[in-house]
Amino acid sequence: MNGCIFCEIVAGRAEASVVYEDDSVMAILDLHPAAIGHTLVIPRTHMTGLTDASDEIGAPLWRAARRVAAGLRAAANPPAPAGSPPATASEAAGGAGVAGLEGVAGGSETARGSGNAGVRCEGVRLSLADGEAAGQEVFHLHLHVVPRYPGDGIVIAAGGRRRARGLLDRDAALIRDALPGWATGSGRGGD
Ligand SMILES: [Zn+2]
Repeated sequence: MNGCIFCEIVAGRAEASVVYEDDSVMAILDLHPAAIGHTLVIPRTHMTGLTDASDEIGAPLWRAARRVAAGLRAAANPPAPAGSPPATASEAAGGAGVAGLEGVAGGSETARGSGNAGVRCEGVRLSLADGEAAGQEVFHLHLHVVPRYPGDGIVIAAGGRRRARGLLDRDAALIRDALPGWATGSGRGGD
């Protein structure tokens, strides 16, 4: 699509640091990472939101995200080269606690260190923003794969007051009744 930065990247007309690619998807590093290694998995074909994303593209997106997640964990714990001591986690992150984010800011200009190059990954968070209200900024579908570790300083607002079962049941019925009648695996998308 004209003017879409991810389409430009897919077409090879814009720069990206590619982690993985196949016939259906590309996985590229976020230019403004929440943590070192923050990856975006994007379909090669332009689509905006979840409604556009058929089961056919969902499977490759999910497969690539799982693969990248495994790669992040492995990159954070590479086999130590012979004769060199392994970097400690705090060295890798540029400090302790919230300094992980400073590590991102401080480390973005140059490749730092050796070994895991600053990737720290003790857990992985997947997220996908569908729509501006959800925080979507680039309107070409993308699945975030974010490496996480304790004290990484990433804040994800979640959680609220406990909702009574009766209200939850009512909410569930409302949503159930509104579900579109898509056949499982039909790959429906777009319309
Ligand atoms: Zn696009």
